[in-house]
Amino acid sequence: MAKTTSFAEKAAKALQGKKGSDCPKCGETMQNVLVISAEKGERAHYKYNQHFVKVCKCNEKEVYA
Ligand SMILES: [Zn+2]
Repeated sequence: MAKTTSFAEKAAKALQGKKGSDCPKCGETMQNVLVISAEKGERAHYKYNQHFVKVCKCNEKEVYA
């Protein structure tokens, strides 16, 4: 059998592997989304919090609200 797997295909597979796991509730693939939230601190200074959230159909409305 000839080698037909190109580098692009390998890269695509590697990316898919990183996509995260499936949600046990809805079966959708959960995607890591970077959420930046601003928190008001003292004297109108804002603190920015960054964190990754796994998003699927169960919580996408809350995350993107
Ligand atoms: Zn879900």
